[in-house]
Amino acid sequence: MSQKRDYYEVLGVSKNADEAEIKKAYRKMAIKFHPDKNPDDASAEDKFKEAAEAYEVLSNAEKRAQYDRFGHAGMGGQGGFGGGGMNMDDIFSQFGDIFGGAFGGSFGGSRSGGGSRTVRGTNLRVKMKLTLEEIANGVKKKIKVNKLVNAEGVTYKNCPTCNGTGRITRVAQTFLGAMQTQSACHVCQGAGKSIDKKPADADAQGLKRQEEVIEIEIPAGVEEGMQLSVQGRGNAGPFNGVAGDLIVVIEEVEHEELRREGENVHYDAYINFVDAVLGESIEVPTIGGKAKIKVEPGTQSGKVLRLRGKGLPSVQGYATGDQFVHIHIYTPVNVSKEEKEILEKLKQSENFSPSAAQKEKGFFKRMRDMFH
Ligand code: ZN
Repeated sequence: MSQKRDYYEVLGVSKNADEAEIKKAYRKMAIKFHPDKNPDDASAEDKFKEAAEAYEVLSNAEKRAQYDRFGHAGMGGQGGFGGGGMNMDDIFSQFGDIFGGAFGGSFGGSRSGGGSRTVRGTNLRVKMKLTLEEIANGVKKKIKVNKLVNAEGVTYKNCPTCNGTGRITRVAQTFLGAMQTQSACHVCQGAGKSIDKKPADADAQGLKRQEEVIEIEIPAGVEEGMQLSVQGRGNAGPFNGVAGDLIVVIEEVEHEELRREGENVHYDAYINFVDAVLGESIEVPTIGGKAKIKVEPGTQSGKVLRLRGKGLPSVQGYATGDQFVHIHIYTPVNVSKEEKEILEKLKQSENFSPSAAQKEKGFFKRMRDMFH
């Protein structure tokens, strides 16, 4: 898998570039590297595609936020996700927004012919529940989706409404004279096609519903709410168009004992008072199984111990978090008469009195340093 360039770098804009700047930068690149202007230059086509992909992400607030947080991994560029970038049809269908109406049609049209365009299928969203263990290691999952696919045996003819052009031209009289406007045909959505013959199970766009099992590779370190898109695995496009994306929304299953905070994991350990006084090695759960950790003699309630590297990997693969063990002294709720007598006796000892300890110089500072 080739290393992708940073999207901001591709478009030559800063991380805080606004919508207009991004659009302007992309328009420039698209004109410069357009395949029609650079025939027989494969590197221009690569740059053209690269810029289109960068624009696709940075022009969409949701995708951009995702990218800012998780980098290419959040876009599904890693770990077996699509990764192949955009195809030419996708890019040209994007042009209407960039260059506006008629220009978009003629500019991109040389590839798709006569102004008609390939219609893109809708995205399919699925939720995926993952345990912390699965998130820590990354996981391959099979999911069953009910999606629109191309029905077999469908034949097409030109759309009668737009005569196969995919566009409808209207002439309006204005004080400047006759103005011609073009818009995508509302019947064929710009595809320029209509169904000629179709089997009974196909709809008016040549599609049918079907269950499909899709295997998805989830990279390690994902988190609740993160969306991964698998290119081209969503609903098929009308009139034999291109498929939309499959959007996988991550849901985290709450762990019984561990609490996640970013890449770190927290655990509340309850130890008895005697172990806090005399010290003890205790066993704690971690994502990877049980681990031992030493509680030093004289440990205060609230002390936080750290297990390095026992957290989760960052989704970009830079680092691994830690596990924090929060020590709490467990206070017994029921005590026998005998235990009560022992406790009363201990209470007499000055060593057990915080008020004595508090008189020592620097006590509060020492405690603060221990916890923060
Ligand atoms: Zn039409």
